[in-house]
Amino acid sequence: MSEDLLAEIVSAIPMPALMVDQTERIIAANTDARTLLGQNMLGRHFATILRQPQVIDAMEQSLRSKGPRKTRHLSNDGAQDTTFEMQCRYMNGIGAVSGGAVLAVFQDITHLEQASQMRRDFVANVSHELRTPLTALMGFIETLRGPAREDAAARDRFLQIMTDEANRMNRLVGDLLSLNRVESEERVRPKEQLELNGLLESTLNSLKPLAEDADVVLSLTAPDDPVSITGDSDQLRQVFTNLVENAIKYGGSGGSVEVRIAPSERDTAVRGPAVRVQIVDKGPGIDSVHLPRLTERFYRADSHRSRQLGGTGLGLAIVKHIVNRHRGRLRVESDLGKGSVFTVILPR
Ligand code: ADP
Repeated sequence: MSEDLLAEIVSAIPMPALMVDQTERIIAANTDARTLLGQNMLGRHFATILRQPQVIDAMEQSLRSKGPRKTRHLSNDGAQDTTFEMQCRYMNGIGAVSGGAVLAVFQDITHLEQASQMRRDFVANVSHELRTPLTALMGFIETLRGPAREDAAARDRFLQIMTDEANRMNRLVGDLLSLNRVESEERVRPKEQLELNGLLESTLNSLKPLAEDADVVLSLTAPDDPVSITGDSDQLRQVFTNLVENAIKYGGSGGSVEVRIAPSERDTAVRGPAVRVQIVDKGPGIDSVHLPRLTERFYRADSHRSRQLGGTGLGLAIVKHIVNRHRGRLRVESDLGKGSVFTVILPR
């Protein structure tokens, strides 16, 4: 096969690819391979270009055994790490000296690596979150069987703590199932016609007892005309419940939580007619370092307070997925010492 034809074939491979013949020199490489490994590689010994020990080993073994090999090639472009899977395949009858050559292709598998890392982190987080209340429950069962067996007052107190811990586990499992459902439906557009004023009024009504317990005044500012959108009323109720509940729990010390509904004919955030629902509290606010990560699962700005209040750390993750499903946006602004504004922008 002519060198030109070889170069043509390698350049048509849609990912970094190069060829090494039995003289151990690189005889062809495409543009992606040059971008990844350096420009002037033709004619050079592969070990001076590939450099990483596991990659050199795979290439050597493939040349020697005339068989396939695969390994990882790690790269960093200065900004981020990228992981490639390098696959070597032996081709007969190619190269300057007869005996064939090895074709090596580099497939970017960074997203797969990240997904499996995320899965491992998620399982570790869930296990940790479940183990904490479970350990407490097991401890109290032991105590009730032993030292507190005949102590009626202690028994009541411990049973109350056990109920709280069991409720915490129940909330966590409920939120996990919710998150799962919301994620699995994320690509299905909601179809229901609903009216936001009524939905928010009834959401606030159901949160009144919580607000009263926390000494917080809830208010709703809405236009007289009903604001209609296409959405999923159960999911949107969950969004506003989570946000108002957070505003009461974390921002309640400000004494008031206001919900505003503001429709507009054109909103730059969604490039069309939209409605903004803002949940405003005058509490301690959130440090700006936390804002970019707030909607990650199990991320808490104030871990101690979240746990004390029975938070699962999943509320805002659920909100984000539901808002995404509605092709909307979630914005969080916060001023330390002054309070926070959570804005949900929904297309109309
Ligand atoms: P949690 O179950 O912990 O409430 P969320 O996902 O609902 O989980 O919220 C994540 C974190 O964001 C909370 O732990 C809290 O630290 C912070 N947060 C949310 N809303 C507010 C708010 N209105 N004011 C201050 N902090 C807030």
